[in-house]
Amino acid sequence: MSTKVLDIQNVTVSFDGFKALNNLNFSMDEGELRVIIGPNGAGKTTFLDVITGKVKPTEGVAYFKGEDLRKHKEHQIARLGVGRKFQTPRVYLNLTPRENLDLSCNHQKNAFSTLFKQPSTAEKRTVNSLLETIGLDYKADVPAALLSHGEKQWLEIGMLVAQSPDLLLVDEPVAGLTDEETEQTGNLLMSLAESHSIVVIEHDMEFVRQIARQVTVLHQGTVLCEGTMDEVQNDPRVIEVYLGQRNPPDG
Ligand code: ADP
Ligand code: MG
Repeated sequence: MSTKVLDIQNVTVSFDGFKALNNLNFSMDEGELRVIIGPNGAGKTTFLDVITGKVKPTEGVAYFKGEDLRKHKEHQIARLGVGRKFQTPRVYLNLTPRENLDLSCNHQKNAFSTLFKQPSTAEKRTVNSLLETIGLDYKADVPAALLSHGEKQWLEIGMLVAQSPDLLLVDEPVAGLTDEETEQTGNLLMSLAESHSIVVIEHDMEFVRQIARQVTVLHQGTVLCEGTMDEVQNDPRVIEVYLGQRNPPDG
């Protein structure tokens, strides 16, 4: 029997009586790349907050690989193997991509030892292969401040992967990127999906179409429907929810 990477049952999150999530049910298999879409205020970020332990469910249960997430604090959940990429890149701008990745690979080490001690051969190999994966090998040794917005996003994805999470949570990775960077981000996530379970939240429909296998649509804190991109785009409920918005999500 395979354990679900995520199993969320009847989860409600109330903020002073307002239900940001309302009896939400969601499950995902190990190794899946799942895209979550939904209008503003649908509860997408709150959904990620529940998985990372930032927000505790008011009602319901949430499991990560069989572990009851309600029993763990945020830093413990990170250690269990849940990695989250926030919208704004959090990289050290005065350090190079190589140094940023060195730091992430070596949690226990401090910045001083990372900068002034020679990394072992195994460490170098890991960092070099990460640099290649994120497509920054040719800019490995320039200060991160000189990278484009897209390159900083990839570096942060690399730093997340360096911590060997089983599940990657990625919130709006292509906001503000060029078309070419957007496509490259899609390729990066698809290649990472070969060895990780990934949840991507995104508004850019072109991008969703590029990477999505299974799409979950959230609306008013609950799952409106799930299916392939074609299935959800043609679902009358989804069309109604998006037409009801003044600004469509990809506009
Ligand atoms: P999305 O990411 O889909 O845009 P959110 O999860 O950020 O939606 O928010 C869902 C709803 O919950 C919104 O109406 C938002 O205003 C509300 N909400 C989110 N966090 C809080 C909070 N800490 N206190 C009160 N209301 C909140
Ligand atoms: Mg959000």
